[in-house]
Amino acid sequence: MADTRNDGAARDGADGATRGDERGDEQGDERAARRDEAVRAAVERGLLGPATPIVGLLDVTGIRESAAELRAAFDAVVAPGTPVLHAFAVKATPLVPVLRLLREEGIGAEVASPGELALARAAGVPPERTVLDSPAKTPAELRQALALGIAVNADNPQELARLDALMASAPSRSPLGLRVNPQVGAGSIEALSTATATSKFGVALRDEGAREWVVRACADRPWLTRLHAHTGSQGVPLPLMARGIAEVHALAEEINRRIGRPQIDTIDIGGGLPVNFASDETSPTYARYARLLREAVPGLFAGRYGLVTEFGRSLLAKHGTVVARVEYTKSAGGRPVAVTHAGVQVATRTVYAPAAWPLRIAAYDAVGRPKQGPQAVQDVAGPACFAGDLLAEARALPLLEPGDYAAALDTGAYYFAHHYAYNSLARPGIHGFAPDGAGGVAFATVREPQTLEEIVAESGGARANALTTLRGPGRP
Ligand SMILES: *Cc1c(COP(=O)(O)O)cnc(C)c1O
Repeated sequence: MADTRNDGAARDGADGATRGDERGDEQGDERAARRDEAVRAAVERGLLGPATPIVGLLDVTGIRESAAELRAAFDAVVAPGTPVLHAFAVKATPLVPVLRLLREEGIGAEVASPGELALARAAGVPPERTVLDSPAKTPAELRQALALGIAVNADNPQELARLDALMASAPSRSPLGLRVNPQVGAGSIEALSTATATSKFGVALRDEGAREWVVRACADRPWLTRLHAHTGSQGVPLPLMARGIAEVHALAEEINRRIGRPQIDTIDIGGGLPVNFASDETSPTYARYARLLREAVPGLFAGRYGLVTEFGRSLLAKHGTVVARVEYTKSAGGRPVAVTHAGVQVATRTVYAPAAWPLRIAAYDAVGRPKQGPQAVQDVAGPACFAGDLLAEARALPLLEPGDYAAALDTGAYYFAHHYAYNSLARPGIHGFAPDGAGGVAFATVREPQTLEEIVAESGGARANALTTLRGPGRP
């Protein structure tokens, strides 16, 4: 595995990790200050305004900090010389400039579709720092991954049979692994719990005969050298995640003992570190998770196994903000409602499952300064034509007025980069920001706002007659 080797830097890492843990709060304050400054500068520069009523902002400083914390946290717990690959789960923020930034910070890519692989390649993430996991890989995808030398984790016995055929026809340098489901149970969000008894992912380890099958599958395939588990995302408590990884480690030990050679040489622990959506504090930290893993699964870091991680949300969520102009305000049933330009198209999960995905909302005035004034309980609504299109319901905020801005915080992962085309609402522009070195803010465009021409083109605009010219049999 060609990746970052942990050498003498381990001790620095330990210090950095501890600091990172204790700085959770202070770091949050700094992040909030950068965000406020960026919103003000975005309004001042016209990135946001009456003609551009919604924008996504990414905090480059914060993304770099999180990447450094991730590296330091695991450098501090692994044995010197352990190969470690941190692969960002591209699905969390599928934007090429983000992947390039992370590449520069020493982070690779975990991809789960041809589109995500194309994004990682466009960002220049090298094959040896790319991992392909997906429950429905086609033969063509597998062939391409093996030709490129990308690591692949097979999801099930049928996929393993496809790999058998491909490896027989053309040997590959791709590291190959098997995804297992330790079936340790669900977290608080069923849709994101990957380690339930009936999860669709991986080989269900506790099912009748499954463990024996896995040991035999490895014994028969000297090239099967990795085990992979991703035991959950937001909503799965850390001790449960650690329990899942302990199961995978125990399985690796059993396989290597029973086949009499250290064939499993790498454990991919997946991602899933939960994010605190309730305040600016980073909690839990990577450092805390890495220490918990060291206590719960000491053998994982003893030097016998290389390590792959696949964090997504925890790297990006807190560094993204979607800011929307308040177009109108009104009152309904005695409750004030602010109608903004951010709703289901940029916050799909929150709108459809508000109890599982509450977002913090920050209020800014018409020039982008934090809004002052007494709090009022109000709804913050989106622009889409259905009643449930609310970013927040009955939220206490300074009373929003037309021309103000409402910002949905912690939306750097799985939100505004995951456009949902309801009402043909345009994808907003996305800009990264960082200090300009002269006390101000510098912006760089990550993605242009979608144009109306693009919406028409994507909606069959060039095929307007496609249906009217179709004729059934016997019809003129
Ligand atoms: C979604 C996913 C991840 C990333 O999960 P986060 O909760 O965003 O950290 C990692 N690995 C796999 C296989 C995934 O499906």
